[in-house]
Amino acid sequence: MKPSPFVKPYCVTAGKGFRLKDFAPDDTAGLHSKEKAEELLRHGVTRLSELQEELYAQGRWSLLLIFQAMDAAGKDGTIKHVMSGVNPQGCEVVSFKVPSSQELDHDFLWRTTRRLPERGRIGIFNRSYYEETLVVRVHPELLARQKLPPPLVTKDIWKERFADINAFERYLSRNGVLIRKFFLQLSRKEQKKRFLARLDVPEKNWKFSLADAQERQHWPAYMAAYEDMIRHTATEHAPWYVVPADHKWFTRLVVAEAIIETLDSLRLGYPKVDEAKRKELAAARRTLD
Ligand code: AMP
Ligand code: MG
Repeated sequence: MKPSPFVKPYCVTAGKGFRLKDFAPDDTAGLHSKEKAEELLRHGVTRLSELQEELYAQGRWSLLLIFQAMDAAGKDGTIKHVMSGVNPQGCEVVSFKVPSSQELDHDFLWRTTRRLPERGRIGIFNRSYYEETLVVRVHPELLARQKLPPPLVTKDIWKERFADINAFERYLSRNGVLIRKFFLQLSRKEQKKRFLARLDVPEKNWKFSLADAQERQHWPAYMAAYEDMIRHTATEHAPWYVVPADHKWFTRLVVAEAIIETLDSLRLGYPKVDEAKRKELAAARRTLD
């Protein structure tokens, strides 16, 4: 497999010195045809379905895909399109919303840990523990509600959370969980356009809430939080992909190819049959005959 031209430009494996402004939300890596992108995506979806079968058959590795983005960046649509060929039995999507009071009674990695994919499976986190360094950082009142012992809440808390997340992801990767993280980077201008469409089109009304429009006012604080998050948590074993999100057709293509590259790198194939198993199969054939 030769590397995809749509993956590498957006993959950050070392966070140090990372700057969001080096990445353009409307980039398409020189690809200008939506039809071409959709055709490539169709091929990608087929390939992904084969790779997922192999992942499942092997039952050793698991794949954790994390999606983070501002509202209307297209997380849901990307998940829907990219995973459309994958056997639902081998895949679980979990959306993390405002934490419940039970969840707030636990450490911040508790609720996501419970939903990690089993070996052989793909787990998709639509939002994740990274919200703990994003929305919670932008809104200090959310941190205040977390019932942390006061002496533990210091100015170092974000740095500590990054360190804890890095340790956790290192631990998971040493246990065979492959982690790939996607930040769908939307421009503020395109977000406004999509919000207006949600107001104008009756079928899209349900997606809109006043809170979404209010969150927009915190845009610069969110961008600063995203940048700092990527600087501290992009690693070789758990990279961030900063995916341009102003063109949905391009976002989907980049995500699909990044997942394919990841699974390809495992050189999975189907499990090899050993001598004992070969005998068992021969016996089974005799029984059937
Ligand atoms: P949505 O994904 O649009 O349905 O919205 C889910 C909401 O839950 C978003 O506004 C998130 O910011 C919020 N959320 C997710 N995780 C957390 C968290 N750990 N603490 C506070 N809010 C969160
Ligand atoms: Mg929302």
